[in-house]
Amino acid sequence: MYRCHFCKTVSQPNTLANRVVLETRPTEYPSRPKAQRRRIGRKIKNFDDPGGAGYEIAREVLSCRSCAERHAAEQVEEPAFA
Ligand SMILES: [Zn+2]
Repeated sequence: MYRCHFCKTVSQPNTLANRVVLETRPTEYPSRPKAQRRRIGRKIKNFDDPGGAGYEIAREVLSCRSCAERHAAEQVEEPAFA
């Protein structure tokens, strides 16, 4: 049971909550030397993880299914980070 963030109603017991991302922020991941272990034949070799950049979730809320679908439809019309 949970309270929907958008319509503020409490759900019925045993219904699944939908996690809706409201905000994201750009982030960078540093490279990690020798982080990936891979076996080549009988030898285990360590490879570097290159790191990179992407987006991470800044704010996420629980919502009911109908509100989550409506929110997703609105997101398509206007991109979250433009
Ligand atoms: Zn709702």
